[in-house]
Amino acid sequence: MTVAVCYPEKYPVEETFQLLRIPWEWYIEGNRYDVVIARKADVAGYDGPVIDLTDNDFFRKIADLLNRGEMHLHEPSCDIELDRVRQEIKRYIVLVEIPPVPWGHPYMVALTHDVDVTSVKECRFTTVGYAAYQCCIQGNGAAGLRLLAARCGFGKDPWILFDRWKELEGSMGVRSTFFFVPRPDEPGQCAHPYRSVCYHADPGVIASLPTEGWEAGVHGIDNWIDARLGAEEREVLGGTSGGNRTHWLLFGEKSWQVLEAAGYSWDSTFGYNDDAGFRAGTLQVYRPEHVDNLLELPLHIQDLGLFGEFCWALARDEWEKTPCLHLSAPAARDHCDHIFGYARKYGGAVTLLWHYENLVPPRDWSGLYRDLITRAKSDGAWVTTAGNVVEWFRKRRQIHITCVPGKNKLTISVEGNLSSDLSPPLMMRIHIPGNRMISVNADYLPSGEYIDVKLDKMCITVSFV
Ligand SMILES: [Zn+2]
Repeated sequence: MTVAVCYPEKYPVEETFQLLRIPWEWYIEGNRYDVVIARKADVAGYDGPVIDLTDNDFFRKIADLLNRGEMHLHEPSCDIELDRVRQEIKRYIVLVEIPPVPWGHPYMVALTHDVDVTSVKECRFTTVGYAAYQCCIQGNGAAGLRLLAARCGFGKDPWILFDRWKELEGSMGVRSTFFFVPRPDEPGQCAHPYRSVCYHADPGVIASLPTEGWEAGVHGIDNWIDARLGAEEREVLGGTSGGNRTHWLLFGEKSWQVLEAAGYSWDSTFGYNDDAGFRAGTLQVYRPEHVDNLLELPLHIQDLGLFGEFCWALARDEWEKTPCLHLSAPAARDHCDHIFGYARKYGGAVTLLWHYENLVPPRDWSGLYRDLITRAKSDGAWVTTAGNVVEWFRKRRQIHITCVPGKNKLTISVEGNLSSDLSPPLMMRIHIPGNRMISVNADYLPSGEYIDVKLDKMCITVSFV
């Protein structure tokens, strides 16, 4: 069973098939294939079935979305396109794929927190004063007073919250990633002065997170624009996972290359500050163009994008206030349900960002956070840290399958390291209707149009009628 591709560029094809995980090969003139994907004019002499790219170059479309993104995209256009391609290929072969879905879970959720403050005491008076004022207009004067008192050194500091986050997430059986700013009092290059933070990251906190399953990453200041500074930022924080999310989501055309040169292995910056949705058009982790090892975990939902009034954005070299969605709690929930609906349909991972301090007044947005996790868990989703999700996708990228069809039989050989410690395991989806299947030498789950097989064997044989 062979799918061959004739296309002038490598990256768009290789990455599209990394997201599809369907066996394929480059087209060689004179060979026969079950189907060829090409511009008709480029394979003029080929008389077998061709999926013609002339009027719909989906390779280009997908590569552009992954690398340049789109603003205010509320559907995963890339995943929708991939599914269209999957259905088209299915017309010519018994499709076998490794879907972006772990065995035993319909989709994944990556939980993350950007740490822009770690205590009231370290914050500017103006920040604390504004937060106290917000508490008062919400009718919670006591919380406002507690903030002001803590800033003056009295009482318990309401923004020392690592234990509260651990309590909340621990009680729900989940873990998350905290991104720390490497140095205080520096807005960074090309940035608004407000971008600087006031805290020194506590090495004790960073070291303690992984011991209980949580994870630390870098909340980059200049690592998106300068590889030398990026390497320093990683070293200053020590003990982080190799992951980054740039503070304020600052991003440039070369950011992924700069981050890779600075030694980062993954990033989760590609998302919206003023919206919630699909900037890269996908729920999958992917490799951007011009990097070898770095993977991007796109960001989908951040608390400030949903509830905030405005964020700072660069427009024509000027920093401007840009409105966020500023939704009520029920409207924010509907917006998130819409995003989770796509995950149920196409698999992949929904990435959530709840800022560290937004667990308590004045912006106590923990209710929705808790509800989203409860909902995902009741769907059976794998809810975990960003690094775990990236690692799962990295394993999936390294496995190759070859399918040899026989009479009413399919033999699938697996190449790569199916390490038994990958939890949850990968799975294979074989597009044979469940009622046609006779036997398979692995754990499996039949469904209407296909069967899902646990991918923990190097050779899988399926018999069907
Ligand atoms: Zn930040």
